[in-house]
Amino acid sequence: MFRIATLLVALVFSPSFAPAAPPKIVLVAHGGAGVLTAEELKKEGLTKEQFEANLAKALAAGYAVLNEKGKTGVDAVEATVRILEDCDLFNAGKGAALTSEGKAELDAAIVDGTMIGSGEGKRDPRKRAGAVTGITEIKNPISAARAVMEMPNQKHAMLAGPRGEEYLLTPDVMIKFRLERVPNSYFQTERRLRQVRPKDNKQTKRDGADARFGTVGCVALDSRGSLVAGTSTGGLARKLPGRVGDTPMIGGGTYADDRACGVSCTGTGEVFLRHATAADVVGRMRHGKQTITDAVNGAIADLPDEDGGVGGLIALDKEGRAAFGMSAKSVGMYRGYVTAEGKVFVATYAGDGWREVK
Ligand code: ASP
Repeated sequence: MFRIATLLVALVFSPSFAPAAPPKIVLVAHGGAGVLTAEELKKEGLTKEQFEANLAKALAAGYAVLNEKGKTGVDAVEATVRILEDCDLFNAGKGAALTSEGKAELDAAIVDGTMIGSGEGKRDPRKRAGAVTGITEIKNPISAARAVMEMPNQKHAMLAGPRGEEYLLTPDVMIKFRLERVPNSYFQTERRLRQVRPKDNKQTKRDGADARFGTVGCVALDSRGSLVAGTSTGGLARKLPGRVGDTPMIGGGTYADDRACGVSCTGTGEVFLRHATAADVVGRMRHGKQTITDAVNGAIADLPDEDGGVGGLIALDKEGRAAFGMSAKSVGMYRGYVTAEGKVFVATYAGDGWREVK
């Protein structure tokens, strides 16, 4: 039977007779499930501490935004993901994985799980979501996804490719959503170009694991009591031009619903897409009345296995309970969370305990 390695937030109990309530978590993030082993990282001149430090920095910044007056989870998720997109370690924005032709085609999505009374559009006032796919010239795809979510009258939910970028790169939209135009070469880092050069392009034993490390995602629980999820990626390294993964698919790799939880997935997008995994986790909680832990375990157990691990996901519910799940063969997932008091914790490999970052 397919074994699951689901990691749950380590709860700290007080020594008194009654266990202390688990800490409320308000922000969770991942930096991708295709984690390289320590040895593989060393070959790349990298360490897991570098990833953890940048994840912690992004989480702390997102937490600060979450606590600013007037800001919502949308602002916090966008702020957290933007920082990770600007860090070339992760497979999103600056460090994004490239297509087989060495070009960046970026995907991102953001979903606001708010269900009552906050929608501004006429089409579906109760739910907001925005996504972009095949982005080639916008520095921060998560902000582009937000711009789609906040289109007047909720006109569209997803824009694709250079034609979609035309709307996003109009002056008013660029200013309002802090969108910056960059040449595609901005994304083509030496490390990512090496992955697509035929002579360097030897697959590791964990076939394909190098193809997808570093996608980023985040879920916030804000002062409205709403859950917001966002994910951003370059997709799989060496992907065919035009390929779309789970990340920008609402309900595939990104989803949020205030009646259940917010979810961001990372891994082989085709698998998550076929199983509508993010929506599956929400459905298990909403209709199956499962706990967040059971919902995450169950959704991952339904996925087929593959060498190098199919990936993982993070989820956060309205009570501030988080679950971090990984498929059996996944080496790890860069992951972290922030408590309501602002304590930041991170971990990388499947067996790692949480480490507080002060
Ligand atoms: N899920 C992403 C995709 O398939 C890749 C990843 O998570 O690393 O596009």
